[in-house]
Amino acid sequence: MTNYPHLLAPLDLGFTKLRNRVMMGSMHTGLEDRFYHYGKLAAFYRERARGGVGLIVTGGISPNRSGWLLPFGGTLNFKGDVLNHRRVTRAVHEEGGKILMQILHAGRYGYQPLVVSASEKKSPISPFKPRALTEAGIEATIRDYARCARLARDAGYDGVEVMGSEGYLLNQFLCARTNLRTDRWGGSIENRMRLSVEIVKRIRAEVGQNFIIMYRHSLLDLVEGGNTWEDVVAVAKALQHAGVTILNSGYGWHEARVPTIVTSVPRGAFAGLAGRLRREVSIPVVASNRINMPNEAEDILRRGDADMISMARPFLADADFVNKAAQGRADEINTCIGCNQACLDHTFSNKRASCLVNPRACHETELVYAPAQKKRRVAVVGAGPAGLSAATVAAECGHDVTLFDGNEQIGGQFRIAMQVPGKEEFRETIRYFERKLEITGVKLRLGVRVSREQLIQDGYDEVVVATGIKVRRPPIQGIDHAKVLSYVDVLQNKAPVGKRVAIIGAGGIGFDMGEYLLHDSRHPLPLALDVWAREWGVDLQGNTAGGLTPAEQPEPVRQLYLLQRKTSKPGAGLGKTSGWVHRAVLARNGVVMLSGVQYDRIDDQGLHITVGGEQRLLSVDNVVVCAGQDSLNELMPSEEEIKGHPGWPRFHKIGGAALAAELDAKRAIREGAELATRF
Ligand code: FAD
Ligand code: NAP
Ligand code: SF4
Repeated sequence: MTNYPHLLAPLDLGFTKLRNRVMMGSMHTGLEDRFYHYGKLAAFYRERARGGVGLIVTGGISPNRSGWLLPFGGTLNFKGDVLNHRRVTRAVHEEGGKILMQILHAGRYGYQPLVVSASEKKSPISPFKPRALTEAGIEATIRDYARCARLARDAGYDGVEVMGSEGYLLNQFLCARTNLRTDRWGGSIENRMRLSVEIVKRIRAEVGQNFIIMYRHSLLDLVEGGNTWEDVVAVAKALQHAGVTILNSGYGWHEARVPTIVTSVPRGAFAGLAGRLRREVSIPVVASNRINMPNEAEDILRRGDADMISMARPFLADADFVNKAAQGRADEINTCIGCNQACLDHTFSNKRASCLVNPRACHETELVYAPAQKKRRVAVVGAGPAGLSAATVAAECGHDVTLFDGNEQIGGQFRIAMQVPGKEEFRETIRYFERKLEITGVKLRLGVRVSREQLIQDGYDEVVVATGIKVRRPPIQGIDHAKVLSYVDVLQNKAPVGKRVAIIGAGGIGFDMGEYLLHDSRHPLPLALDVWAREWGVDLQGNTAGGLTPAEQPEPVRQLYLLQRKTSKPGAGLGKTSGWVHRAVLARNGVVMLSGVQYDRIDDQGLHITVGGEQRLLSVDNVVVCAGQDSLNELMPSEEEIKGHPGWPRFHKIGGAALAAELDAKRAIREGAELATRF
């Protein structure tokens, strides 16, 4: 029987056919903004097309300067740029794929001074107040869209996607939240949709019938002043009538306070809405957001909720996603875990996107896993993210690799991380590496704490010390009191925890500990969709304007204090695009967060602190220490020892063993891969 028969079925659009129902959704990689990066961009898309994806949508390209997301962002408004884009389209076509260019006008989300919108209303996430477009400005914008689409056709694209969701310009015109106009472009939904509809009509007139026009439509705005479902349907029907070929779906403006793509959002959360829209129109509808494995994608299609599935970040994580699914190798897929750490967090920091679990993403021409010139014997000590990455890449390059870990299971700290509510996806990375170790033939020695002498004696050419970290135990009076626990004890369920708890350290693990201790055990993990929706106040039926309902106020299962010595806001160092979600969860559960704390002592009464010059007693049952880590690298010889023993193997340290400060799995995995390519 065919694997994933719905997902892998072709989609016939009449004038053209897509080879399957898998679409790689638009992502801003940072490579599209500079002409000299188009070779790298072409290599990035080529690998995904070779991996079998049916349709690719590029990152957003602006039709004019006022539409820039960032100053001098990717723009297609004159003939000269066509040549760069041809490199991209040629690469995809040579691999049998099809590609659309996304036209994105950022409107008031532009992080630059030329911004325009429907009205002069500043967005809460950009410092620049927009200028309201005049009637002539609107006409010019429509012309710019049409010209941009024609240039895209000249560059060889199979079509364009018009970005109409996520709170960008067209969404700003579509919603009363940002459209305060009283002319024919504002007021009723017919007026508010006029810009989107005119743009589609003008593009269609410019490019002819045999060119895909996809429109990304906001099915749930998730902001006050968002559209009703009736509005959403009316717009969709008008867009179909205007000449749209495929309707893609979008959920939540960037300024929304409801998460829509982070790892704690249940898989496929919004697909039901795409299904509801599909029953209203007669053109194909695409489901998107938090779909990251072929099973979910297949189920959505089988249920009739969509004609196509858009996955964006999963194609950063694994270029071969589709081929693996088609060949019955879904267990080899490197799953996107929804962490945003190397993709969106980079994009929003103006850095090139990549992927935590796949550091080659957007670096295809720079980080190459080529066959080794000379096969070497490699020992990797530590099967955490750093060691797993080093071992599998080294083996993939053809080396003879043995991987040791003192534990009985691989994963290191990542295995502990997956106990945190909302981080269940981290399990997928461990599953991926388990399989990858098998495929690449790495010899796995679990439950073995190997010594340096042994490694030297065994005659390895290269030894990789990836032994990670040891948990820091801060020198606080009473730190050995029975009520003090480390985060490892708690997350590994080795110790009961009371109802009143102080957490020392408000870094990533302190926040995770908060979510772990607040989890209501009546709700199994991962959270069911309805429980998640009630927690965040989301109406997944789309029956309220913008899809918002009052969020359920939980009865906190514990009283928590989250403490740090720094005077900055707790959680300031969390991920740019996910930190707010963690802060919101803790705030909703009444966690007391204190900065500028001095820890005086711990005793039977609890934790004594001084904060703001005032001594306080937190009468807690337990104190959980999440105060960071120090490197564990005793296997690593000193410089002198290495110099004195020229016959020893070459020793390397990576991940936590190299540097514990600001360590995360992104750095650990990247360092492992980079080192392995140098053997
Ligand atoms: P480790 O994961 O510590 O692995 C080291 C391995 O070496 C261990 O398996 C250990 O058993 C083994 N070892 C040590 N000594 C020896 C020896 N002598 N012989 C044999 N084996 C040995 N990171 C993120 O990027 N994003 C997150 O959201 C995130 N959340 C986290 C949440 C929690 C609760 C925790 C605990 C961590 C989280 N992290 C997160 C951090 C991430 O897990 C670490 O950065 C990463 O695991 C470090 O990888 P590593 O390989 O360097 O070390
Ligand atoms: P961390 O982010 O460095 O936080 C350590 C915390 O401990 C800080 O709040 C620090 O604040 C406090 N601390 C440090 N030394 C202390 C001492 N001597 N006494 C008392 N408090 C002390 O480290 P982490 O939370 O352990 O996380 C480890 C790594 O995992 C992080 O680097 C992070 O990147 C990664 N991680 C990421 C995520 C994510 O969601 N992206 C989640 C979890 C973990 P003060 O010094 O101000 O007191
Ligand atoms: Fe997915 Fe994280 Fe990779 Fe982004 S960085 S693609 S969210 S796994």
